[in-house]
Amino acid sequence: MRIEKCYFCSGPVYPGHGMMFVRNDCKIFRFCKSKCHKNFKKKRNPRKTRWTKAFRKAAGKELTVDNSLEFEQRRNIPVKYNRILWNKTVEAMKKVESIKQKRQARFIMNRLKKGKELEKAEAINEVKKNIHLIKAPHAGQARKLEEKMVQKLAEDVEMDD
Ligand SMILES: [Zn+2]
Repeated sequence: MRIEKCYFCSGPVYPGHGMMFVRNDCKIFRFCKSKCHKNFKKKRNPRKTRWTKAFRKAAGKELTVDNSLEFEQRRNIPVKYNRILWNKTVEAMKKVESIKQKRQARFIMNRLKKGKELEKAEAINEVKKNIHLIKAPHAGQARKLEEKMVQKLAEDVEMDD
């Protein structure tokens, strides 16, 4: 048994799921869910439908050159491995795994960074808004103090970068 790819969204079509359409020229179309089938019947182009993998690829939102794509390639003939080739494959798999992990880590780091930046920006706003609370004891220097604090926070943001 094989997990097929949805013609429309490129998602996995598990055995017993979805829908298969055989056109009268014998081309087989598989759909993972009725949503994909309906969109196909409406003659929509998957490359112009924003939620499909095909659109994301065409719009440059997805990795098109990725070693891991090699592994999920559809093969009708079983690939015979000799020892050296097999070792190479294992190496490649390990490499893909490490790249994936790195990519994930980077993604998470970027997310965290963004959150931190937002936090800092919020803090700056808070200081600006509530400066009158700090103002009282240093009546004359408030303006200066505010500037100083904003500057310091800005520096902190820069340092984090
Ligand atoms: Zn689908």
